[in-house]
Amino acid sequence: MIGFGEPERLTCSRAGCSETATSRIEWRNPKIHTADRVKVWLACDEHVDFLREFLAARDFPVAVVAIDDERTTA
Ligand SMILES: [Zn+2]
Repeated sequence: MIGFGEPERLTCSRAGCSETATSRIEWRNPKIHTADRVKVWLACDEHVDFLREFLAARDFPVAVVAIDDERTTA
């Protein structure tokens, strides 16, 4: 449960993973999405390759973008 006042946490999109995401994976399915429609997954260091490969294997256009950390103060 998310408490009030907590900063928004970016969590890895991999099922079962609760690591903080370090990358955004931008992709779309050309069969159902138009060119201006981009889906975003979040990935931690460990799963960014897994998720990118998962999409690339389906011939989806995929781009990995490092998350800008400016929103968070460590
Ligand atoms: Zn992960």
